[in-house]
Amino acid sequence: MELLVDTHTHTVASGHAYSTVRENAILAYERGMEAICCADHGPALKGGAVDFILTVLTAAPDVMEGVRVFNATEANILDFEGNTDIPERFMRCTEFAIASLHDIVIDPGTKEQNTNAMLGAINNPYVDVIGHPGNPYYDVDREALVREAKKLDKLIELNNHSFIYRKGSEPNCKDFLALCKKHDVRITVSSDAHICYRVGNFDMVKEALEEADFPEELVVSRNLKAFSSYIEERKNRLKG
Ligand SMILES: [Zn+2]
Ligand SMILES: [Zn+2]
Repeated sequence: MELLVDTHTHTVASGHAYSTVRENAILAYERGMEAICCADHGPALKGGAVDFILTVLTAAPDVMEGVRVFNATEANILDFEGNTDIPERFMRCTEFAIASLHDIVIDPGTKEQNTNAMLGAINNPYVDVIGHPGNPYYDVDREALVREAKKLDKLIELNNHSFIYRKGSEPNCKDFLALCKKHDVRITVSSDAHICYRVGNFDMVKEALEEADFPEELVVSRNLKAFSSYIEERKNRLKG
């Protein structure tokens, strides 16, 4: 399976990442990729990038260095209702939005509270996907999240970074894959790169997709055509 879109990458605007959007685009191009989402952190994470979302990427060309760069964000989930740190006036500027629980921002609650946080966030009309939902630090009802994604025509993220840095994520990520296959729910694959050299690094998730014999048509980030068609669908959804 080819995976030509990376829907979760960070730049220096996140405060703790080390490449510019141009460097990320250059590496993506060199690796034969078609698109990336520039998804910097919201302001609740120290150094987060809310102004950047509005002032830089909205003024930047859609295509940089031969790669389509989608204007995205990774919002922080702030509470167990699933409110995030990106206000609507900024969300309106995004083409794609991730919402995530981060340990610096919110301590884990009970499984029910964590689940409510993710369900609340994915019900935000601008949020497309929950970031690294397999992180074992936040115990969650995976089937409930997958069913909600199905109901809302949204996505589940398979995050390569989780397999490496969020210890204990692997079985949870594999369970998400099995549930998505069972319920016919679409996924997106991401590197969560914090430096350009990791853009498009999908080694671990590729293995998991193969092991699960995961249907290619459920991977919206397999190429730019499939991802653009999801983005079109999102625009129409937001128009109501
Ligand atoms: Zn994150
Ligand atoms: Zn991230």
